[in-house]
Amino acid sequence: MQDFRCKVLSIERVKERGRNSYLIIRLKKPEGFKFSAGQYVLLAHPGLRQEKNSAELLFRPYSVASSPYMEFLEFCIAVKYSGGLTEFLEKNLRVGGELVMRGPFGEIIPFREHEKIVFVVTGAGIAPAISVLRDLCLEGMSKPVQLFYGFPTCEHFLYRAELEKCSSDNKCFSVYAAANEEGGCCWRGVCGYIQPTLEEAGLRDEKAHYYLCGSSGSLKAMRVALRRMGIKKERIHFIAG
Ligand SMILES: Cc1cc2nc3c(=O)[nH]c(=O)nc-3n(C[C@H](O)[C@H](O)[C@H](O)COP(=O)(O)OP(=O)(O)OC[C@H]3O[C@@H](n4cnc5c(N)ncnc54)[C@H](O)[C@@H]3O)c2cc1C
Repeated sequence: MQDFRCKVLSIERVKERGRNSYLIIRLKKPEGFKFSAGQYVLLAHPGLRQEKNSAELLFRPYSVASSPYMEFLEFCIAVKYSGGLTEFLEKNLRVGGELVMRGPFGEIIPFREHEKIVFVVTGAGIAPAISVLRDLCLEGMSKPVQLFYGFPTCEHFLYRAELEKCSSDNKCFSVYAAANEEGGCCWRGVCGYIQPTLEEAGLRDEKAHYYLCGSSGSLKAMRVALRRMGIKKERIHFIAG
């Protein structure tokens, strides 16, 4: 498979009190590169190898957060301070620099086939959801769509302005946001975890498909909450992220 070298167009750093940092990175889309919402690519920095003397770059998978309609590629990356790629990117990535990209991979989310879609995401798990939402907003949203989004504090409410606009432009789109830090309530906000919000919203719906994306711990809790509400297994889908 071909590797693309993509120019870094912009980097937005979301950082709050030294923990839970995110990078929102925009790359120039290579000529002829095609993907669908929900897919991921492998990214590497040309300056970071798997091991010191290895020829292989350290690739990690990332969901594409932009819509295929957009002229750039966007990624929403949670920084892990483990000496891996994300810490390296936080310290070394500059606008005008380059990342190496391979892909796309993974399943396409068949959102156009569903009568109703519910996203339940935490942290950087918003990436594949915002890609689909951007597609839906650009195409004109004609079916019910709900987003349940959990994050550590209000400062980590990624894409807030865009989601706010999408929600005010589209009556069939609603966002439920929960900040799990005490006193971290925000827009239509709830304090605590996102699972109780799911139950309070009473969203049990035979026609809906539920897409879950987040850390492994939060995914398990979200799946348990949905199953407790009586949602059938075959309606619950996991998106890697
Ligand atoms: C299909 C797919 C899509 C993804 N999409 C996204 C996305 O859109 N956004 C995003 O932020 N992430 C995404 N990820 C996760 C991403 O690929 C990386 O795993 C993540 O960015 C961490 O990479 P890293 O090299 O910085 O960290 P690594 O160094 O690989 O560390 C990863 C984790 O392991 C832990 N760890 C590392 N070393 C040790 C050790 N010695 N002992 C114990 N724990 C250790 C770290 O604390 C960290 O939590 C996706 C993953 C998949 C599979």
